Amino acid sequence: MKKKLGRPNRVSWKSKPFCNQCKIEWEEPFLWCPECNSLLEIPPINAQKNQKIDSLWAFSGFFPNFSRCISLNEGFTSIIDIKNIPDLKKLKMKLEFRNPTGSFRDRAAALLVSDALSRKFSEILTVSTGSFSISIAAYTARAGLKSINFIPENIELTKIEQMKIYGSEVRFQGKNLGETMQDAQEYLKKHYSKDLYVPLPNQNILTIEGQKSIGLEIALQNPDIENVVVPRGSGTLLYSLYKGFIDARESGWIDRIPRIFAVALKKSADSQLVESLDINDPMLLSEVSRILQETGGKEIPISGQKMAEQAIELAKNEGIFIEPASASVIAGVRSMKENLGIELPRTLTLLTGSGINAMNLFASQMRDVKKVLWGVTATSTKKFEILRVIAERKAQHGYGIWVVLGKRNSIQSIYQHITQLEKENLIINTQPNKKRANFELTDKGKETFLRMRELIEVHGQK
Ligand SMILES: [Zn+2]
Repeated sequence: MKKKLGRPNRVSWKSKPFCNQCKIEWEEPFLWCPECNSLLEIPPINAQKNQKIDSLWAFSGFFPNFSRCISLNEGFTSIIDIKNIPDLKKLKMKLEFRNPTGSFRDRAAALLVSDALSRKFSEILTVSTGSFSISIAAYTARAGLKSINFIPENIELTKIEQMKIYGSEVRFQGKNLGETMQDAQEYLKKHYSKDLYVPLPNQNILTIEGQKSIGLEIALQNPDIENVVVPRGSGTLLYSLYKGFIDARESGWIDRIPRIFAVALKKSADSQLVESLDINDPMLLSEVSRILQETGGKEIPISGQKMAEQAIELAKNEGIFIEPASASVIAGVRSMKENLGIELPRTLTLLTGSGINAMNLFASQMRDVKKVLWGVTATSTKKFEILRVIAERKAQHGYGIWVVLGKRNSIQSIYQHITQLEKENLIINTQPNKKRANFELTDKGKETFLRMRELIEVHGQK
């Protein structure tokens, strides 16, 4: 029996999230008002850094109080200058990908998982396109909690593998984030439990509270900075950064908020390179526009292809390996230099995510193949070959498949794979009473085959 006594149902706020429209304070860490759907706000906080702590928790004076804090020593990422790229010399880069799991999302996960642990939830379910889920997976592991991650089926395998390595249960559902969200809601209807915490990155104000530590850090590390350039994405990073600057100003660390520039993806065929930039939350985006205007910044549109190129340029010249979405800020600065004449030594870019999270994309770019699949086992390749023979109607029975595949493996191993494929309901024998089988792909088999083909096929093998 689980002990329910003493379960704190509430976050212990310094100031609660407040709706300016309804004039209501909320106890739960909502980002949007449940009554009117306005953006909730926590008033500016005046606090000081705890000098004894070297992690994000040095800013605990700016966070709600948690009875248990989970940390992997996130935060206090370094700021360094570009050294070798002539037209970008002295541009400042804050290396956010040097957080524990390789992205700034660790700052959000630290607070969200601490909240879950403090309020005695035992399991966390979330939905995202990658980095956020990896962070949640790692921090729940650290906290000794369980995690379930719902992700769209087309995301980077290197990201999926990381979630699994941290012990997270990963569910691939839906072709995009919207569909995945619906599937997660269906799951929650069936499996609702009081022990399950469901923090969605764009709906929980603790995401903002954790990530605002980036702004607080910049104010301490480099109070003279004039321009900050960030990927726009869904807007939560930019909004968090701004909230951090507001708190830093309230605390007397800076006199004015730097100009904030948001790099946004131009719609193009390359959009899939940087899927994490391609999520829109119109409400937060209108707040982003307001912040750009207030601080004197701008939105900088750039193309997806440029991002991957500039990530590779940064790796080759500066020894810094970031994912394409993160390299958007480099492309953004180049465009700003041409059009706005900014001073590079007073301009800071946020490099948000590690290149390790996008290994497949880079591998395919570097090797001139359509897609490279990391972590494909010999077994799954063999199964794919068998599915292909059946799909292309080159043979419909075990012996025939063995012949088409060039008799490279033993015929027994082909039969074993066929039995397995039948068990997985990917193929069906349409004439079970005849001597010779006639295998066809089931609907599930067709879908799996197409998906695997998309992943495995390389140029010249079509
Ligand atoms: Zn309201």
